[in-house]
Amino acid sequence: MIIETLSVFPDMFEGPMSASIVGRARERGILDFTAYDLRDWTHDKHRSTDDEVYGGGQGLLMMCPPIFEAYDDIASRGPKPYTIFFTPAGEPFSQGMAVELAEKERILMVCGRYEGFDERAYSLADRCVSIGDYVLTGGELPAMVVTDAVTRLLPGVLGDEGSAVEESFADGLLEFPQYTRPAEYRGMQVPEILLSGNHQEIYDWRRSQALERTARRRPDLLRFAAISDEERERLEHLSDPDED
Ligand code: SAM
Repeated sequence: MIIETLSVFPDMFEGPMSASIVGRARERGILDFTAYDLRDWTHDKHRSTDDEVYGGGQGLLMMCPPIFEAYDDIASRGPKPYTIFFTPAGEPFSQGMAVELAEKERILMVCGRYEGFDERAYSLADRCVSIGDYVLTGGELPAMVVTDAVTRLLPGVLGDEGSAVEESFADGLLEFPQYTRPAEYRGMQVPEILLSGNHQEIYDWRRSQALERTARRRPDLLRFAAISDEERERLEHLSDPDED
């Protein structure tokens, strides 16, 4: 898969995109990642990418010409890229969106700075994406977040293929609690059932822990989670504020 980013701070990607699982995916040729410098498509001596806002207002906006010229040039180098623009006003990023993006052949992520983009730049976008309800200084971190979440879903990237399937959100629920050695630490015990070797009981325990954790911490997720009527009924008392 090809992932490319377009930003005024391409150096920001160097460390995070070279380390750990994403770095290994690149070494193994599963991910072909390039961070382009938007300033390479400017023509003035200051290599400007921003300008004042029409109609007045605070700050500066990313202007259209370098973005459109960069897009035309980059897009011409291969199959048409699925193009994402980052903005706090975009569609919320989710595990479901990561799964969808992992199917794409080529993705170009355009990262904003300053007060964001001239509205006309969004005409290049296949999708506008937000990584949360807060405002960051730029789109580089969102691009790294999305690249990381997508890369770990690519076939052959995770050593154990099952690990992406069992994680939080894979079935619409948060992940169940997990433990490793030692079985007892500072008076805290690993739940007995996990040491029992009974696979069915362990499966049932994990399922009920995932359901309860989701009901307590993220009840909003239950609406779309794959759960039975019986499980839904069992969970109803957990959202009752008088219960605890
Ligand atoms: N004035 C903009 C607004 O109120 O929506 C915020 C601009 S922000 C300071 C600069 C850039 O950072 C944005 O253009 C976007 O690319 C990126 N950005 C900031 N917060 C983000 C978020 N939560 N999700 C995705 N991108 C974000």
